Amino acid sequence: MESSSAATVSAGPGPGPAPADLLRRLRARGAADPVTHVERVPARAGVPAPWPSWATAELREAFTRRGVVAPWQHQAEAANLAYEGQHVVVATGTASGKSLAYQLPALATLLADPRATVLYLAPTKALAADQLRAVAALELEGVRPACYDGDTPRTEREWIRRHSRFVLTNPDMLHHGILPGHAQWSGFLRRLAYVVVDECHTYRGVFGSHVAHVLRRLRRQCARFGATPVFVLASATSGDPATATGRLTGLPVTAVTEDASPRGGVTFALWEPPLLPSDSGAAPLDSSSVPAQAAGGHDDLRQIRRSALRETADLLADTVAEGVRTLAFVRSRKGAEVVAANARRALDDAVPGLGDRVAAYRGGYLREERRELERALLHGDLLGLASTNALELGVDLVGLDAVLICGYPGTRASLWQQAGRAGRSGQEALAVLVARDDPLDTYLVHHPEAIFGAPVEATVLDPANPYVLAPQLACAAVEAPLTPADLVLFGEGAKEAVDGLVAAGALRQRPTGWYWRHRERPEVDLRGEGGAPVAVVESSTGRLLGTVDGGSSHFLLHSGAVYLHQGVSYVVDQLDLADGCALVRAEEPDWSTHARDVTDLSVVSVRSYVDAGPVGMFLGEVDVTSQVVSYQRRRIATGEVIDTRPLDLPTRELRTVAVWFTLSPQSLALAGVQPADVPGALHAAEHAAIGLLPLMATCDRWDIGGLSTAVHPDTEAPTVFVYDGHPGGAGFAERAYGTAAAWLRATRDAIAECGCETGCPSCVQSPKCGNGNNPLSKPDAIRVLDVVLTNLPD
Ligand SMILES: [Zn+2]
Ligand SMILES: [Zn+2]
Repeated sequence: MESSSAATVSAGPGPGPAPADLLRRLRARGAADPVTHVERVPARAGVPAPWPSWATAELREAFTRRGVVAPWQHQAEAANLAYEGQHVVVATGTASGKSLAYQLPALATLLADPRATVLYLAPTKALAADQLRAVAALELEGVRPACYDGDTPRTEREWIRRHSRFVLTNPDMLHHGILPGHAQWSGFLRRLAYVVVDECHTYRGVFGSHVAHVLRRLRRQCARFGATPVFVLASATSGDPATATGRLTGLPVTAVTEDASPRGGVTFALWEPPLLPSDSGAAPLDSSSVPAQAAGGHDDLRQIRRSALRETADLLADTVAEGVRTLAFVRSRKGAEVVAANARRALDDAVPGLGDRVAAYRGGYLREERRELERALLHGDLLGLASTNALELGVDLVGLDAVLICGYPGTRASLWQQAGRAGRSGQEALAVLVARDDPLDTYLVHHPEAIFGAPVEATVLDPANPYVLAPQLACAAVEAPLTPADLVLFGEGAKEAVDGLVAAGALRQRPTGWYWRHRERPEVDLRGEGGAPVAVVESSTGRLLGTVDGGSSHFLLHSGAVYLHQGVSYVVDQLDLADGCALVRAEEPDWSTHARDVTDLSVVSVRSYVDAGPVGMFLGEVDVTSQVVSYQRRRIATGEVIDTRPLDLPTRELRTVAVWFTLSPQSLALAGVQPADVPGALHAAEHAAIGLLPLMATCDRWDIGGLSTAVHPDTEAPTVFVYDGHPGGAGFAERAYGTAAAWLRATRDAIAECGCETGCPSCVQSPKCGNGNNPLSKPDAIRVLDVVLTNLPD
């Protein structure tokens, strides 16, 4: 969460060593220097502004009591615009105090008009709860702030609807609870002055597209009651926030992007773990960088880098040993646990007991556990924390001395947000990006201009996705019959979606509009395909350890899976998908588990294509069927595969959007690719292309999937498919199609520039390959991409 105050003081231990000295000591440990680039991000002085004239003495004093002496320039500017009635987004860095920008106009209005109300939306319950505490602490008469979410007791709900004037909730509750119950909320909605949308950059992809329509449904209900609330949005730094939030709200939005809060300087290092000698026998810890050792694979000559997880764990141990308050961002839950466990072990080896000052943190923990970790880090009892990016949301942790980022987080926006946790006001801090053994990470640490010289990405969402629009229009029709004016409100594609619903018998057209025909409401989940979260329960005690989202549960919680929680290892006895729970027992085997899935794909339709002679580039709809079919057990100490065990899990179906290219067999032969090597060539090109797509499309490689084949029945040619991992698509494949030449050029360069001989995770191997990275041919992948690039127009 943002600290709302311009004068927040960080608690905690005293200053550590200067970042430049610290970095010098860290990089001097090994034989080769792992640092490929150091960027100095200069310090910035804050620019305070006077309180707006409309902020009453009562309001100013309330903030002053909480330590806000005066607003910063950007806070005052956004607050003034919102108070004047303009829709505004404040898009500034971590800890720049965005809350004050919406609290000021919203609270001033509540104090001036005793009937007015405010609705605040956060992407998580935890963030809404934190914001509730911040607003309640101002102790303003008559505001009566209250959270209204799935945890709110039934007995309190009516009181909140009737009496609270500052309701904090999330888009899911707005969608499932408040909008369907609009009659009960009519008093509140009729008087609604402001809608605050916090952390609005998280509304991207399919989820963002759903939220865009939930906000349109909210505007529609307000309009029925005669209210036209002003939208105030808060975003992390992002490209073109006015356009993105305009798409999110359907309204013209003014952007305030000039961050006027003070910031300490940051020394930002790019760090590439060294290649291990191929005969060293040392094995990576990192499940996502272990090259599979499928029978008949090319593992004899493989070269691997030291795992980013192991490198991050060592860096965390070293910085903690220096008394430096450090946060390590690790992409996977499992990875965060492994980093914490290894750093603890290393510290305990040096000084018994020192390991206790490092912990792991991730989204699935229970609230009390999370709060305890936050408190301990703030007070300095804890010096090192390894976390998934769950911490980006809902936690007020800033002012750390060092931030370690284990693996590129997928977008420059996330990278800067994570790095922004470093630096107490007026003090220098260190940020380190540790490259994973992965094509994109490797590319970035050798092309720093792609990080430091490029603008932050725009948030991508596509409200016109028919798989989002149709169910949202169905929900809207239940709330009130749809009218032609509503088609304008819901925007592009709305007419086609309504026609589709009529044809499917879900809506009936009457002279007064389109009516929902069924008794039941449509079941629509904003978070999409992930399904309900799965509870992880210890069978011997019945204790709830945490939750895992439904989409990941097949991979993480299948029977036999080794599941880590706070560094403690559990083995899953049973995954019960019907009941949404996994039963586990504490056990520490000396292996880890790695699930594999298989994928089948068929082309439904072609939306667009480029005929480039022997090469074809296509965009269209596909049906993807995937199933987690087995898992490998691998020895933790050596990475050796113990065995592969079958699993019996249901398939999952996905209709989505794909980009694909085909090549004629003749052109491949002409380029020197032997027929027997075609599958390995295409497979290798597919892996690398997926790895590099995030450079173009603001997704991460786990948002997309791929399939390659020497002959596909639908294309009758050698083909590489790359598809959106979300029903209806999220715009990623479309971007890939639009930037195909640049995307495949970067892919080709990444493979060609990699120092390995036969292919490694930095170029053509994939951590999520269903075929165990077999077959793969690195030199032939370059030939394939050269054929495509020579023929494809730019
Ligand atoms: Zn390589
Ligand atoms: Zn593969």
